[in-house]
Amino acid sequence: MLYPDGHVHSSLSFDGVHSVLEMAQAAADRGFKEVAITDHLEFYPESKAFDAYDYARARETVEDARVLLGGRIRVLFGVELGFDHRRESEIRAFLKEHPFDLVLGAVHGVEGRDVGAPLFEGREPGEAYRLYFREALAAVQSGLFDAFAHLDLPKRYGISYFGRAWDPEPFRDEMTAIFKAMIETEVCLEVNTSGLRQDPREPFPGLEALEWYRSLGGRLVSLGSDAHRLWDLGFGFREIGSWLRKTGLEPAESLASVLPRLK
Ligand SMILES: [Zn+2]
Ligand SMILES: [Zn+2]
Repeated sequence: MLYPDGHVHSSLSFDGVHSVLEMAQAAADRGFKEVAITDHLEFYPESKAFDAYDYARARETVEDARVLLGGRIRVLFGVELGFDHRRESEIRAFLKEHPFDLVLGAVHGVEGRDVGAPLFEGREPGEAYRLYFREALAAVQSGLFDAFAHLDLPKRYGISYFGRAWDPEPFRDEMTAIFKAMIETEVCLEVNTSGLRQDPREPFPGLEALEWYRSLGGRLVSLGSDAHRLWDLGFGFREIGSWLRKTGLEPAESLASVLPRLK
């Protein structure tokens, strides 16, 4: 089973390389039936992605790719939207005016400090991680998102910054609160496989946290490679997909089946 890739960047993102058409074409060539283009949209000025998003252009680019690929693959017009509680009403107003097939929520910065060195500086890891999780909880509770991306993102940068392995146990309460909010409001949990090719060497969230999610009654799971390059499409899906099935979590075979907007 080739699960759809629910998290893919194109050259419309500041850190993307290949065009929407190239990404979608490569996904179709590899047998994917569905892919979601989720370029970055950020609302805080300190972000590298700030002010770089052109909705009309993004939409048109995806529509053009659909036409050119002639139905070989379902290309969803998504977005990876960075939540910032200070801008919640602005984000809400934007989403009202600008429809997407899939709104993938993420937290890339807290109070204008990027997750990574800017957020970690002068803080204990526990404090920094908790600030992030508080923002992630607010993001999920906002009701703005269909799915939430890379739930334990700080480990990506924290392992080398603090020189410590990632251990989710001290943050079990924070993650449990987020999982409960997701389950209650039917926000899909993204299992982001980019962590397998970075320092954590495990997905976001990790396997232990995924067990917690499942034991709380969570069932909505999508896979996302967070590919910024053609060759990372669907990265690790086979391995993580079979692990998830063993745990009792079935990744979405079609994003349409788990995302309320697409039903
Ligand atoms: Zn992200
Ligand atoms: Zn991403």
